[in-house]
Amino acid sequence: MTMRIGHGFDLHRFSDDPARVLVLGGITIDGHRGLIGHSDADAICHAIADALLSAAQLGDLGQHFPDTDPQWNGVASTLLLREVVGLVHANGWSVANCAVTVLAETPKMKPHRAAIQELLESIVGAPVSVSATTMERLGPIGEGLCLAAEAVALLEKGSR
Ligand code: MG
Repeated sequence: MTMRIGHGFDLHRFSDDPARVLVLGGITIDGHRGLIGHSDADAICHAIADALLSAAQLGDLGQHFPDTDPQWNGVASTLLLREVVGLVHANGWSVANCAVTVLAETPKMKPHRAAIQELLESIVGAPVSVSATTMERLGPIGEGLCLAAEAVALLEKGSR
């Protein structure tokens, strides 16, 4: 059994455009500013996808889905994550688990955590845990200008 750990990080700036919806971990969170990005700017999905690619030594999200490619304009990041899981599987890896930490002053993640975990687990096919922390009102995250997510993923290959 071979195991590999990978790490991903993503950050998106909040938008002042009231038409921009907030999507985190594939779940739409109503009543909050959205994030600016080429896709739906879902930082949770992006961080997990990068952690999976990192663990499999398959580069990063920007390499596979360049933001200069109109094909990915406005795309749901759950679709990108599905593509990444497919790539990981195609390279002989299975996902053992993923863990993601959201760094944000708002929104509070607790009311959305169960729904996000359930959706992400259905995509990744493994346990996913979502935790959150504030930045104590310090820096651009603490001032509410942006939101970030960090993720780790564990992959395994071969028989136990
Ligand atoms: Mg991103």
